[in-house]
Amino acid sequence: MATPEYVFFDGKIVPYHEAKVGVLTHGLNYGTGIFGGIRGYWNDTEKQMFVFRPLDHYKRFLDSSKILRMELPYTKESLTEATLELIRKQNFRENVYIRPLAFYGDEIIGVRLHNLTPRMAISAVPFGKYIEQEEGAHVTISSWWRVEDNMIPARGKIVGAYVNSALSKTDAQLSGFDEAIVLSQNGHVSEGSAENIFMVKNGVVVTPPVTENILEGIVRRTFIQLLQDELGVEVQERSIDRTELFLADELFFGGTGVQLVSITKIDHRNIADGKMGPLTMKLRDVFFDVVFGRSAKYRNWCMPVYKK
Ligand code: PMP
Repeated sequence: MATPEYVFFDGKIVPYHEAKVGVLTHGLNYGTGIFGGIRGYWNDTEKQMFVFRPLDHYKRFLDSSKILRMELPYTKESLTEATLELIRKQNFRENVYIRPLAFYGDEIIGVRLHNLTPRMAISAVPFGKYIEQEEGAHVTISSWWRVEDNMIPARGKIVGAYVNSALSKTDAQLSGFDEAIVLSQNGHVSEGSAENIFMVKNGVVVTPPVTENILEGIVRRTFIQLLQDELGVEVQERSIDRTELFLADELFFGGTGVQLVSITKIDHRNIADGKMGPLTMKLRDVFFDVVFGRSAKYRNWCMPVYKK
């Protein structure tokens, strides 16, 4: 993947290669940073780019910064404006992935969260699929557990915590699976390595609650609303046992990167008939109409980039 031309760095848009840090940087040595992942969708009919729910993403970003005691001189509105400006500056006309990152920038030795100074970057790059098998992923239950709230809180999108995701993802992929599902220490289903999980059983959609060491996904919140309000489906947030997954009618992942991925096999067991299910397909249609700005009702979630 080519590096972008420009990046937002500590309040200014600068050429990407000018945004550099030293090797002693605190966030690099100790993982003391927080990040986000947002998508921009190019609507070719309208010749417009829509950034999906940036204010909600930046609200979570600032919440994550609070967990690490970071005092960032930005609001969700100012970060959204910086993001739009960065995209305009590079005149992107295709789908993009936006990566906000704040990290302690001090070049010192010493593990702590106090008396440190944060730095802030936003990058944007053209982006396609995150998981290749979107209509039929074969996933495994990872032998790695999800980080617990009293270890590294998963509700914060904390840089260092993603070693947990990387361990489960790599072990899954190197064993021939498309993705990993991770369990909490209590044995309940938490989420995928970088996405939330949903199960359809007897016409009801079930997803793990926010107390199950999940990242509280913006797409998760979007799916819940679209399932209830557009598809008239009941959604329950409750703990899920591992073997409930094997016996589900349908299973799918949701997240900014994966968007919507149908899980059709877990650890060599087909989910139902081993094909993408009907509700998953319906939700996918509604979701893509919404994110591309084709649904008037949810147009307020789509922030236009280019001035008309
Ligand atoms: N869980 C984890 C661990 C993630 O990294 C992500 C991606 N940010 C998600 C869930 C999905 O969150 P969102 O819908 O906000 O992208």
